[in-house]
Parts: sequence; C-alpha cells; structure tokens
Amino acid sequence: MSAVADYFKSLTLWELVKGLKLTGTYLFDRKITVQYPEEKTPMSPRFRGLHALRRYPNGEERCIACKLCEAVCPALAITIESEPRDDGTRRTTKYEIDLTKCIFCGFCEESCPVDSIVETRHFEYHGEKRGDLLMTKEKLLANAERFEAQIAADRATEARYR
Ligand code: SF4
Ligand code: SF4
Repeated sequence: MSAVADYFKSLTLWELVKGLKLTGTYLFDRKITVQYPEEKTPMSPRFRGLHALRRYPNGEERCIACKLCEAVCPALAITIESEPRDDGTRRTTKYEIDLTKCIFCGFCEESCPVDSIVETRHFEYHGEKRGDLLMTKEKLLANAERFEAQIAADRATEARYR
C-alpha cells in the first residue's frame, strides 16, 4: 500500500510541494540573517576573544608572575618567565600566549588573582605571517590599553549581576 501511495505522491510532486510550503513560511517571516560586518549580533560581556594583560590605573602592571594561568592552561599555550624587581616585587620578563594553541577556554582569566590576564570581546584579528599569532607581553599590554574601557565596563556589568 505504501508503495502505491509513494508512487502517486511522486506523480503529484508532493515532496516538492512540501519543500515549497516550508520556503513560503519563511519568506514572510522576520529575517534573522545579519549583514556582517555592517551588522552584528549582541555579544555577552563574558565573550572570550583576544587576550589582554591589564595595568592598574596608575600604570603599574597587574600581573604578579604567580604563574597560575600558565599552570592551569590546558593547551600549554602560555609561557612565563619572571624575576624579582629592586623593590622586592616580582614581575614577568616574558609573557607569551600562542594563539595557535589556545582553545579560548577562559581558564587563565578565571585563575588570575589580580584580574590581569583577560579575554576581550575582540575577535576580528588574523595573522599573515609566522609569529603574528604569538601574543608577546608587549602585544598583550597594548591590547589592554586599546580595550580597557570595554573590559572595565564588562567587569562592572558582571559585578551588578553577582
Ligand atoms: S584561554 Fe584557555 S587555552 Fe587559551 S591561554 Fe587561556 S587557559 Fe590557555
Ligand atoms: S596573569 Fe595573573 S595568573 Fe597569570 S601570572 Fe600574572 S598574576 Fe598570575
């Protein structure tokens, strides 16, 4: 019986009609496609994009070279070297994140006791030659300078909902 029904359905192009019905339903629906990059979808303040190493408002580096982020990183993407300064505090002499290894899990950010290493909302970046995606300390500090206003605003938003 089902073979006969299938035969008649094929004669009436039933599957095609079904498909067109579905297309027709969406034809007059509210459109959800966005014209990227002119239009963008809303983004969570917790979005995990490009990393940044923050400073305090007085310009001092927040990072105290505790290496927790390096230890917790599941992708072994972080490399830190450090030494004590004349005033007895410890600071990094080398801080690198290899973005070709990073899986953007956010563990580094969560583990940091001084809110130094963070992941910004910036995701529109690329590398064109070897080393472009190796984030050195200088690049990470520069990222923080560039996105500090956004980072601070996102921290304030998160604090409101805690
Ligand atoms: S986001 Fe995850 S994988 Fe990337 S550097 Fe941080 S801890 Fe490592
Ligand atoms: S970024 Fe934070 S967790 Fe990583 S070494 Fe510096 S202070 Fe420690």
